[in-house]
Amino acid sequence: MQARLILIALLLSLADARLVLAQDKGSVDPKPLPPLADPHDPKLAAKELFARKLLPSATPTHVIGSYIKGCIAGAEQMPITGDTWQVMRLSRNRNWGHPDLVALLKRLSVKAHKDAGWPGILVGDIGQPRGGPMLTGHASHQIGLDADIWLTPMPDHLLSREEREETSATMMVRDDRLDIDPKVFTPGHVAVIRDAAQEPAVQRIFVNPAIKKALCREAKGDRSWLSKVRPWYGHDYHFHIRMRCPSGNSECQGQPDQDEGEGCSASDLGYWFRDSILHPEPPKEPPKPAHGITLAQLPAACRQVLTAPDAKP
Ligand SMILES: [Zn+2]
Repeated sequence: MQARLILIALLLSLADARLVLAQDKGSVDPKPLPPLADPHDPKLAAKELFARKLLPSATPTHVIGSYIKGCIAGAEQMPITGDTWQVMRLSRNRNWGHPDLVALLKRLSVKAHKDAGWPGILVGDIGQPRGGPMLTGHASHQIGLDADIWLTPMPDHLLSREEREETSATMMVRDDRLDIDPKVFTPGHVAVIRDAAQEPAVQRIFVNPAIKKALCREAKGDRSWLSKVRPWYGHDYHFHIRMRCPSGNSECQGQPDQDEGEGCSASDLGYWFRDSILHPEPPKEPPKPAHGITLAQLPAACRQVLTAPDAKP
């Protein structure tokens, strides 16, 4: 019996690997990726190419493609430390995004400080210097318009490089997955997620269903922002901000707005709390690692983004 339980736990952890990665620890001394044997191999996964670009393209800012299949030219780096924010897991080099998103995160950090009384926010992954698919982690975050914010408030001191790699975020969801853990989820969390959702350029926010349930219960006054907050798998240590396509980016493929409802009814949320969703059957066979899309499968303009010269560090 014990062995069976261990096997199930192992299979579940494999199925969940994509979600758990946000908690992966990093290193203060990350090893550079080895050179590719044949960077022009048409079968090569595009993530291998994008992961090896350490700087953005020295070209005007331009978003190409969709959140899950695209890239960004002329991305901007989120500075690793501000008065009201600190960037985590610097070894990943994923603190690059559209300048509008960088500005939004800075603004949100000031609001979090004011409205939640937090010293500030901890910023997780935004995207790679040229966007594109990643070797680990996300399906989206490819066009510089997605950002993960930890649900752990920024501590009141400057985090060392080690702390930024080693510290784990706080699990916000109760063991039975049916609600938040009231020992850690506070009115400050409601305020920070609300502040993010009230940004006009934010189109969607992803949180764990248990967190959405708590927001529905605890949001006071104007509740219209709840329509932007969507339940999704994972997202129990961090929330995910998605901006709509910035104007003038004709090659950016956005998503339609969701409807205006709060998404708080039993029929909206019931699906997420079914036993089959909370405790899925482990897969019969472990999933094969995905090869990932090739450069030819990305929008053609992403090839130019990849080959453009580096911006100045
Ligand atoms: Zn995310």
